[in-house]
Amino acid sequence: MTFALHATDGAARRGTLSLAHGVVETPAFMPVGTAATVKALTPEDLRTFDARIILANTYHLWLRPGRDTIVELGGLHAFMGWDRNILTDSGGFQVFSLESRRVLSDDGVRFRSHLDGSEHEFTPENVVGFQEALGVDVAMALDVCVKLPATQAEIDESIRRTTLWAKRCSAARSRAETALFGIVQGGLDERSRARSAEELTALDLPGYAIGGLSVGESREDMHRMSRFTASLLPTEKPRYLMGVGTVRDLIAGIDGGVDMFDCVYPTRCGRNGRALTRSGDLNIRAAAFARDPRPLDARCSCSVCATYTRAYLSHLFRADEMLGPRLLSLHNLAMLAQLMAEARHAIETNAWQAFRASVEADLEPAL
Ligand SMILES: [Zn+2]
Repeated sequence: MTFALHATDGAARRGTLSLAHGVVETPAFMPVGTAATVKALTPEDLRTFDARIILANTYHLWLRPGRDTIVELGGLHAFMGWDRNILTDSGGFQVFSLESRRVLSDDGVRFRSHLDGSEHEFTPENVVGFQEALGVDVAMALDVCVKLPATQAEIDESIRRTTLWAKRCSAARSRAETALFGIVQGGLDERSRARSAEELTALDLPGYAIGGLSVGESREDMHRMSRFTASLLPTEKPRYLMGVGTVRDLIAGIDGGVDMFDCVYPTRCGRNGRALTRSGDLNIRAAAFARDPRPLDARCSCSVCATYTRAYLSHLFRADEMLGPRLLSLHNLAMLAQLMAEARHAIETNAWQAFRASVEADLEPAL
């Protein structure tokens, strides 16, 4: 893996991440394909807006279909028919959200499957082994994410274990084509964030993620803490803010120096009839759109906006037709991909501040 930084404008960065399955121009938004599928969309759909990297979830794939099936079928890329890059999370975040179904120790985390109650254990070594066996391009280290608000003792403990586990993840690496990223924790406390970043950057991993945000804190706190944490990370390595995917949050993240993002928001919204536009989100089921001849977003160049009216899409949702969720998911991801492309151009041409201000001005007041 290599990362080249081409331009900066303030803290905003324009780079190229070269991975085993091609280059990713940054800033980039990564569509989420939890169970080895970006819900409702085919790899061909993802190519229509030139997605270069998608995310899949270790926790879900571990339980179903399981490592052996995927390995037998030639690895995750071949299994799902996607020949561009894949990043997998470590499963930590999902396991921690199980709460009553998990037991944590320095060794790892034992948990019960949400599917059938069967018992499993994630250790730093076996989650790296799993991600490498799948043949993914970026693997995430196993970390401990705390729910906010958290006590200082909880934050300290999460940093201690996250560093301990990152060291063991790094030692367990055996595949050069899979780049391991560490995850900075520390809640909303700057000194804790600084300590976590210092301990992890000492390990000299290929990239770093900002974890433990977008977990219940205010939008202002999230923006402040992602900017602060990004400033602590090595300039020459990619920075990934986990779980962020609204237009407003992406713009704030880029402005703070983040290179990569992922979130279920655009696809979850798409399935629920919520369209992301540059003027804010709209609920396509609303009566106002029943006879609206305009595309979802006049400034969007995606295949959905080129072909269908708001009236038609509104009809699909009211009639419970499966094409509705599919088309809205496609538009929402394509629209964010265009936003990222425009952001990259703005940073390259030293026009980032004006671009950021115009995107923010076009959005409706925060919902
Ligand atoms: Zn569109």
